[in-house]
Amino acid sequence: MAVRYMLGNEAIAHACVEAGIDFASGYPGTPSSEVVDTLRRQKVRDFYIEWSVNEKVAFENALGAAWTGVRSLVTMKHVGLNVAADPLMTSAYTGVKGGFIILSADDPYAHSSQNEQDSRVYAHFARIPCLDPAGVQEAHDMMAAAFSLSEEFSLPVLFRPTTRVCHSKSDVELGEPADDRRKGIFEKDPKQYVVIPAHTRILHKKLNEKQAALAKRLVELGFNRYEIKGKTGIITSGIASEYVNEIVPGDVSVAKIGAYPIDEEWLAGFVSKHETILVVEECAPVVEEVVRQVACGTVVHGKKDGCVPYEGELDPASTAAAFEKAGIPYNGEFPEDISPAEGLPPRPPILCAGCGHRATFYAMKKVFGNKGIYPSDIGCYTLGLQLGAVDTTICMGASITIGSGISNAGDENPVVCTIGDSTFLHTGIQGLINAAYNGANMTVVILDNRITAMTGHQPNPNTGVTAMGDPSPAISLEALCRTCGVSFVETIDPYDYVTMIETFKRAKETAGVKVIISRQPCVIDARRRGIKRKHYFVDTETCTGCGVCVKYGCPAIEFIDGKASINSLCSGCGVCADICPQGAIRPEVKR
Ligand code: SF4
Ligand code: SF4
Repeated sequence: MAVRYMLGNEAIAHACVEAGIDFASGYPGTPSSEVVDTLRRQKVRDFYIEWSVNEKVAFENALGAAWTGVRSLVTMKHVGLNVAADPLMTSAYTGVKGGFIILSADDPYAHSSQNEQDSRVYAHFARIPCLDPAGVQEAHDMMAAAFSLSEEFSLPVLFRPTTRVCHSKSDVELGEPADDRRKGIFEKDPKQYVVIPAHTRILHKKLNEKQAALAKRLVELGFNRYEIKGKTGIITSGIASEYVNEIVPGDVSVAKIGAYPIDEEWLAGFVSKHETILVVEECAPVVEEVVRQVACGTVVHGKKDGCVPYEGELDPASTAAAFEKAGIPYNGEFPEDISPAEGLPPRPPILCAGCGHRATFYAMKKVFGNKGIYPSDIGCYTLGLQLGAVDTTICMGASITIGSGISNAGDENPVVCTIGDSTFLHTGIQGLINAAYNGANMTVVILDNRITAMTGHQPNPNTGVTAMGDPSPAISLEALCRTCGVSFVETIDPYDYVTMIETFKRAKETAGVKVIISRQPCVIDARRRGIKRKHYFVDTETCTGCGVCVKYGCPAIEFIDGKASINSLCSGCGVCADICPQGAIRPEVKR
């Protein structure tokens, strides 16, 4: 048995290889992305891997594979599970033949998400088991059990790590990669896989009948366990159980919930032996609600009486604060507020030096002005907020639909929405079809950097390679947009400021739906591929210190002694040279 120091997501990926995975699909989303990224880089097991265009597509692909009897995995972040919720609900009815794991990584504190949501609630809603690892080793160890459990009960299993599990590093005891192979064979069984009402009513009953045995099995597997030590007890789950372990006194009992559904009889056995219970969990009060149902005469503290916060992440200090509110002593000392050291420079998230998105936002704002309405989408271009060119962001693909809603509601100001190439392929296309078909008046700007940048540069059908690096025909966004019913489709280079301004002006004067594809590879990706451009410099004799280039916001431009200056971050896009009214910015010439 090897021990390796690794990231939680790498440990999860390794466990999938040990469990004999045959099929993996996913849509990138922090904190889940490294699972498929690790699987596609490993060389020990050869199996099918894809980055899909969205989570619903990824889910249905993996489900189809599981119906053929192979072991399959689909990965996404919590908000992606909303996109895949439609097949999720019915897959609980149809069940699976080969083990099928739905990895939905939750992000308490919304470190890089539009909301904090709890995938355990979806598992409860769908009536499928949910495994909730508390650390890196447990995340690894649970995966083998997850595949077996899925096959034992013919059910999808939801695997729910949180950010601190996915992105923590620790020593992990690994097993051996599996060398057995399964070949997918689909056996027709319409009563199982065709969900017409006559079949579905029977399938629903069967699903409900599995629940009691499932809850008992999770206790037998040791995922839900407790130790009784006194009259006060803590019930905890996920990463919160690690924080509880750090501070809990020796005479306080602890129950750890690692899997759902919780066997209520087993839980009542723990609760009834205590006078006071505190439930410590992140996100929704999933465990607490079950505890309150079975508690009879035991005082229960948790989120519902304000002892544990509903929002954000827990840590040892906030867990200690919850103990204090519940009147339970704890070990250790924790300052209430851990602020960063004084004097550190603020580092807000910002578009990279030379990012084509900044140039596009700048030109857009120049033409459409403050009266323009700017719906945007999920991706690094949400940072266009700093340039005053993002008015709304709600979820993947919603820029076009929100924009057409505003336009069709009668607002006569110009509507200009922005969406990335990957997001457009994810769920933007349907919005464009709808906007064109229903006669919206708006400009759709596709910020095409030819990669899914924000989650770590995963390829998409616009990139021209598959997840495994094999060449694949890159989709034509131009042809696709015309097919959606748009006749004004123009492609611009965001480093060509003059043409950009001219194209935006023409779009402003044209009625109906206009699509402008602003194409320039992501600067980080371009640098990795060895693309080099000349740096630019400021001629301080010519510079008047007007500050126009500084307001543009490129992190390579600074203001020193009343004049602009360009630092080593410059990636040579040249846009600042176009916007300087004095012509003071020029490319460096090496002599
Ligand atoms: S050329 Fe100008 S705008 Fe482009 S990266 Fe360099 S400093 Fe920034
Ligand atoms: S825009 Fe040109 S003149 Fe104005 S501060 Fe920048 S370099 Fe100097």
